[in-house]
Amino acid sequence: MNCAWCDTEIILQLSWANLMMLEKAEILCPECKFDLEWIQGNRCDRCSRNTNEKRCTDCQWWEKQKENGSFLFNYSIFSYNPFMKEVIAKWKYRGDYYLGYIFENYVMEAFREKFSFLKKEGLVVPIPLSEERLLERGFNQAKMIADFLPLETKELLTRLHGEKQSKKSRKERILTGSPFFITETINKPVLLVDDIYTTGTTLRHAARLLMEHGCPSVYALTLVRG
Ligand SMILES: [Zn+2]
Ligand SMILES: [Zn+2]
Repeated sequence: MNCAWCDTEIILQLSWANLMMLEKAEILCPECKFDLEWIQGNRCDRCSRNTNEKRCTDCQWWEKQKENGSFLFNYSIFSYNPFMKEVIAKWKYRGDYYLGYIFENYVMEAFREKFSFLKKEGLVVPIPLSEERLLERGFNQAKMIADFLPLETKELLTRLHGEKQSKKSRKERILTGSPFFITETINKPVLLVDDIYTTGTTLRHAARLLMEHGCPSVYALTLVRG
């Protein structure tokens, strides 16, 4: 098999994990894999940002706002380094669906380590794209990540089309109202899934809406911490 990114042939390393089919075969060569940068060291226990404090200044500020309901914590797996930026751009904006499988093992491992307590009754809810955006991109990258997880995935949220979030400034993004809608009530804990955590505003809007509709607790798993 060849590397999904650079097309170099991958020499299969046999291990118990892949013989027992516990892990999916790697689709990145060792060199490309080396370019993936895990978030390491101390991180904010609320948002996964690298910091030596227990809680980063952003999260401390949000706590002082005394908002009703948000996610309890977000766990992100990778840093948004130049390699990741390229991979995400090709996967998400240029529609290369297959590249998403690069993340499958890492997403499953993060779930096992941080969220296995949800296994009994939790639901996975991917952050949705608007209909227009979905047509443009062909697939929802958050849904792809959600489907890697060993919980039921429910697309409970819908999203109204707005200006491209990425074109807005940070301040604008924080101030904009929620783009989400929900039509059901829900009585199970939810793990929200998205590709990138930047300001956390998207997740906060989604979490608040879920809680207003009966959800007892909301957590978030994101691939990348921007
Ligand atoms: Zn490669
Ligand atoms: Zn934080």
